[in-house]
Amino acid sequence: MGRDYKIAVVNGDGIGNEIVPAGVSILKAAAKKYGFAIQTEDFSWGAGHYLKHGEFMPKDGLELLKNFDAIYFGAVGLPEVDDTLPAKDYTFKVRTELQQYVNYRPVKLFSGVKSPLRDKTEKDIDFVILRENNEGEFVQNGKILYPDTPNGVAVDTSMVTRLGVERIAHYAFKLARKRRKKVTNVTKSNTLIYTLGFWDQVIAEVASEYPDVVYDKMYVDNAAASFVLKPEVFDVIVTTNMIGDILSDLGGAIMGSLGLGGSGNINPEGRFPSMFEPIHGSAPDIAGQNCANPIGQVWSAAIMLEHLGEKEAAKNIVDGIEHATSQGNLTKDLKGNASTSEVAARIVDFI
Ligand code: ATP
Ligand code: MG
Repeated sequence: MGRDYKIAVVNGDGIGNEIVPAGVSILKAAAKKYGFAIQTEDFSWGAGHYLKHGEFMPKDGLELLKNFDAIYFGAVGLPEVDDTLPAKDYTFKVRTELQQYVNYRPVKLFSGVKSPLRDKTEKDIDFVILRENNEGEFVQNGKILYPDTPNGVAVDTSMVTRLGVERIAHYAFKLARKRRKKVTNVTKSNTLIYTLGFWDQVIAEVASEYPDVVYDKMYVDNAAASFVLKPEVFDVIVTTNMIGDILSDLGGAIMGSLGLGGSGNINPEGRFPSMFEPIHGSAPDIAGQNCANPIGQVWSAAIMLEHLGEKEAAKNIVDGIEHATSQGNLTKDLKGNASTSEVAARIVDFI
């Protein structure tokens, strides 16, 4: 008998309530096939919870999450809730407090899905973005001086620490060793000379410990253009919190839809549980219509199983996604007419 995993399930808001249950059904199918158990417990946190209780999650929420092997999450956010709050109150809190300092965001082309980059094939688009997830531009430390005067000044502080850069850099080079052995540091140190100058220096030091991995540095403006013109140059990208945030939506776009991107917020040491979620948001504009693409959420389940050590089951789920897409089982965002539940059912049948 295999292991027994305790998973905290947080649907969040909007389409999270449709795609997370779809993902859980696929997790359970994979568990049955590969002989391990998935025990889930649901937490109805997010912007909906905020409207009722004035907070995204209860005060002891983080403590509750620590009892689980992993967190399976949708997305939070509703149009009627100020969107500077969600980041602070759920996603940001969990990512930082549980030291999920690696945001792992793979980009690949699934067969049967058309990339907007018309001449690119599956072998051209296959790389991983590693976004530093705990510091950098998103430490939310700043101030607005004289806000209501003609001399208003606003300042945000970006913070990079040696420890923070070293640990994500080691993760990147180790991951590259399991892939095509190339790390590209995407930076903007020609203008953010202090934080990103230091970032580059520490990454280059770590790079020297991995002579078998090719190390490359690219400025983000060039990297954005390269995502479109020559994505085949990338294997593992290591980058900062904000650059990674922006580039991963571009990564989703070149895959064919934001709805395809899966991710893991990972605490590699396993001191705290890691959290797995799609790269997109709660998409309130299409919620409740059974038309959202579940693939990013399902792929996140595969990334979670891989992290938990269930590698065969993880691969089987990714093969199931590929099966659905290659058979033309596509949702509206991919110009198909399949519903959320049809795509999920197709993947369950495959498993
Ligand atoms: P966040 O700030 O939480 O990242 P956002 O403002 O970036 O949210 P999303 O919720 O990601 O916005 O939605 C952006 C667009 O992508 C919307 O038009 C939405 O409908 C579409 N979209 C997002 N996810 C999906 C999905 N799974 N399937 C289909 N369309 C999606
Ligand atoms: Mg977004």
